[in-house]
Amino acid sequence: MARVYFASARAKKWKYDDSMPGKLEHLLKEIGLMNYFSPEEWIAVKTHFGSEGAHRIVRPAFLRKVVDALKRIGAKPFVTDTVRIKGLDYIEIANQNGINHLSLGAPVVIADGLYGNDNIMLQAGEILGQVAVASLIHDVPAMVVCSHVKGHINAGYAGAIKNLAMGGVSSSHRTCGWKCGRGAMHTIGEGELVWDADKCELCLQCQEVCPLDAITFKDDEIVWNRDICWRCGRCERVCQNEALLLPGDDERFMRSLAEAAKTVIGTFDPGKIMYINFLTEIQPECDCMPAADVPIIQDLGILISDDVVSVEQASIDLLLRANPLERSLAEDKKVQNGEDILMKLHSKPYLLQVEEAERLGLGSRKYELLEI
Ligand code: SF4
Ligand code: SF4
Repeated sequence: MARVYFASARAKKWKYDDSMPGKLEHLLKEIGLMNYFSPEEWIAVKTHFGSEGAHRIVRPAFLRKVVDALKRIGAKPFVTDTVRIKGLDYIEIANQNGINHLSLGAPVVIADGLYGNDNIMLQAGEILGQVAVASLIHDVPAMVVCSHVKGHINAGYAGAIKNLAMGGVSSSHRTCGWKCGRGAMHTIGEGELVWDADKCELCLQCQEVCPLDAITFKDDEIVWNRDICWRCGRCERVCQNEALLLPGDDERFMRSLAEAAKTVIGTFDPGKIMYINFLTEIQPECDCMPAADVPIIQDLGILISDDVVSVEQASIDLLLRANPLERSLAEDKKVQNGEDILMKLHSKPYLLQVEEAERLGLGSRKYELLEI
């Protein structure tokens, strides 16, 4: 049974040791980083840089603690993410969100090149076939995966598995474009985008939120470019009139996340990845959306483990025991105490990604929770 170390977000005493940064330091000592990483070893600290409007990422203050702890054992950490927009723009977004060399004490670099084309095609599994793993993540010998736990349009729940799967592969590949990178997961599902003209009030939010400009309006009619659409689901999500419907295959999508995560993990020797899940500012949507809504659940704390399945299951168990927050999307959706908030918000079989990860041998859903 894997061990998952947990520090609550509550600060019951007014001293540093009871703060979240202080507790994170304690967690990093407890797990024994020197048992996983070596002096002089290059270590990727993988996180999500956020977007211009989605500021609720893993806070730079926490990333700094991870970097400092790795430096204390003599390792050479750097902070990284794959690009969703052009690399120089993404570095500027990271900078605006407080992620830079000065704040973190380590280089901040793009994992798949400034154009997102630096990747290595690897065999994944029966659903995806191949995926384009970011070359830096492929080549680096060790990694600490720092994941902001939250809800997600397509995955329902987003934590370490999604950070590895969507965040460890590129958006595109030189030989086959965007459909064999991150898009290979997004594009799962058949069917046309359905637009209901009677419900549409022409607010144009769907057009604005589309990362690929696949939606335009002409003479008050939607024009959807299915050839470039990668079925990310943002347009459907932001439509407040339920005027858009994008059919998908939720089960295959969840299983594809586990498959991609396994491919990324497979580029490391056993015992060379550490997972830290931050259950803080738990917003309903992904950190790549153009805005971050208020949290749906109070801050819960930080979990750390060397088992990706255990850390995910423990995170979900904590989320399901928490009560929904007032004046949030949870209230809009009338989520009651004790209800499955993730299911109620997104209606996605989110647990499948964790079950599939266990089936693929990535870890165990049985864990021992050790609270510090
Ligand atoms: S699913 Fe919608 S938002 Fe996403 S790429 Fe396609 S049209 Fe654009
Ligand atoms: S978001 Fe919905 S209501 Fe607004 S323009 Fe798009 S389809 Fe119409």
